[in-house]
Amino acid sequence: MKRAVARIDLGAIEHNCALLAELVGPGVELCAVVKADGYGHGMVPAAKAAVRGGATALAVATASEAAELRAALPDARILTVGALSRAEADVALQAGSEVAMWREGFRAFLSERARTLGVRPRVHVKYDTGMGRLGDSDPDAVLALCDAVAADEHLELAGFWTHFATADELGDEYFPRQLAAFTALAERVRASHPQVTVHAANSAAVFREPASHFDMVRCGIAVYGLDPFGVDPAEHGLRPALELRSYVADVKLFPAGASAGYGRSWRAPRDTYVGVVPIGYGDGWRRGLSNRVDVLIGGRRYPVSGTISMDNLTVDLGPQTTVRPGDEVVLIGRQGEEVQSAEDIARVLGTINYEITCGISARVPREYVGGEAG
Ligand SMILES: *Cc1c(COP(=O)(O)O)cnc(C)c1O
Repeated sequence: MKRAVARIDLGAIEHNCALLAELVGPGVELCAVVKADGYGHGMVPAAKAAVRGGATALAVATASEAAELRAALPDARILTVGALSRAEADVALQAGSEVAMWREGFRAFLSERARTLGVRPRVHVKYDTGMGRLGDSDPDAVLALCDAVAADEHLELAGFWTHFATADELGDEYFPRQLAAFTALAERVRASHPQVTVHAANSAAVFREPASHFDMVRCGIAVYGLDPFGVDPAEHGLRPALELRSYVADVKLFPAGASAGYGRSWRAPRDTYVGVVPIGYGDGWRRGLSNRVDVLIGGRRYPVSGTISMDNLTVDLGPQTTVRPGDEVVLIGRQGEEVQSAEDIARVLGTINYEITCGISARVPREYVGGEAG
């Protein structure tokens, strides 16, 4: 019995990728985003499962992620979407990663590094259509940069792309404006560079708007079976890949009024049994969940009662209980008919499902089922 474990179903990742590939149809590539340790699922096993499910490219945010992924997948098409410092650019180039670019100064620098290292990196020029983060928002400058990259013998113009700020806010008016601006410039880029891969959509955009699919889509959250709209993954046919589990380390009888945990934030309202579960905020099960969520034991819900500490939490099992030390505890996932999703946890914390799985700490071992993890 492990104190806390994240169980990852690689078959679910494969299924979700196959579903996304089917949704975008032939002729549109699926790039699976595996940054931040595969949103907490484990970058390399997630990447391999995504490729089995039909992803033809993999995206990471950082150069060191690209290098780690390259070591495990020598033949994969890898795209680093994040900003690169000069030192990081070398790491990305040596990893054979495709890179993002939006400034002429970086083109000149990268060209020189490519010549020195004897590589010819594939470059994706980024147009900031309204995310207000990476990319250049001046269409003429972006077009000029595309021309400069294409004319540079040390670089290859591989992609033209953008990123949406509000794709997950159904019905908003900003997403269509970003899409319209991008579509207009993409036509001009394609006119002079017909070979470029045009891409814009994240998971939410894939479900929301087929006109955003272009030549490739970049899906992260949906690959892991989490709902990009934060509600219910099943509505889109997605299967959550991650379950967070622990076990009952001890059961003890509390007299009415006795308290559990730091600060005595909970007191037994009656004589009751309390279960001790050895998982806490040191594992990413946030302290803000204290007295606000349930856990599943034996297919039933029990409230987390008392302040969650770094390594433990306590659960009110009621005045009579069949729960015994050693019983499995599910914190995220399904047990019998009961489900507690990453979306449920996110809602309680006022955040998004992304942050819940990314926040499961390195102390929690990842265990893989449904495919080869290596
Ligand atoms: C993380 C990321 C994605 C994936 O977004 P999801 O909402 O997880 O699908 C796509 N594109 C870029 C540039 C990203 O940084």
